[in-house]
Amino acid sequence: MAAEVVTSLRRVLSHMSQISQTFSRAPPTLVAVSKTKPVDMIQLAYDAGHRHFGENYIQELTTKAPLLPREIQWHFIGHLQTNKCKQLLSVPNLYMVESVDSERLATQLNKACVTVGREERLKVLVQINTSDEATKFGADAKECISLVKHVVHKCPRLEFSGLMTIGRLDSAPPTDCFKLLVECRKQVADELKTEPQSLDLSMGMSGDYELAIQLGSTIIRIGSTIFGARDYSKKTEQPAITSSSQHQEQEQQQQQQEQTQIHITTTKSANASS
Ligand SMILES: *Cc1c(COP(=O)(O)O)cnc(C)c1O
Repeated sequence: MAAEVVTSLRRVLSHMSQISQTFSRAPPTLVAVSKTKPVDMIQLAYDAGHRHFGENYIQELTTKAPLLPREIQWHFIGHLQTNKCKQLLSVPNLYMVESVDSERLATQLNKACVTVGREERLKVLVQINTSDEATKFGADAKECISLVKHVVHKCPRLEFSGLMTIGRLDSAPPTDCFKLLVECRKQVADELKTEPQSLDLSMGMSGDYELAIQLGSTIIRIGSTIFGARDYSKKTEQPAITSSSQHQEQEQQQQQQEQTQIHITTTKSANASS
């Protein structure tokens, strides 16, 4: 398993650079999405030189981050509850929050930066729901500009860096989702009187990153292709991108906590035996 992570990581990176060349694009940043995976695996990818990692549960991120090198650049990519902002900001090497989907959340994140005394501004992406699936998080495309303006003008501790979306997950390629995100970026850039290319587009996962790169993605978030399939033993769906009701969310967080505990146990026993 150890060798496989590094092999898969290198394979993805070289595939990404091939695709980028084919479509004359600059190679995007690869965020290795390590949710549900043990810290040992993350460490292996880190030792192979990788720095950008993504998590989507506060509890899991705040448990794993202190066990791993400070040089890791963490991306938070999950749905964030406003009352968890301070906890998230307790991770000193939090690099970017990709999933800002409301003004209220942006305001709370900004406040949390002040509370914890974070020195650099926190990079944020505004998450857009481009697939009109009612269950998925993200702001409506038509709210995009007002939300971005709120971040830019009312949240001085945040650094607006671009847009993020999760493409539709059914079998049809999410071309329309990615094109809508590109269009949103253009409108935002016009509004801010800047170049679209100066803003990030985080789109593309294991199943659709080739298409995403073709359409101009600058950040790709890949989990299972690098770390292997995730095991949500008790669930059939992927929590990060499907939950809607509070109840479901709580259940997932609890489950995530259990998983995190298992990871730590694994790590400890691994250390003990070495
Ligand atoms: C889990 C997750 C990913 C990675 O998904 P894979 O299909 O395993 O590559 C990317 N983005 C978000 C927001 C996720 O929750």
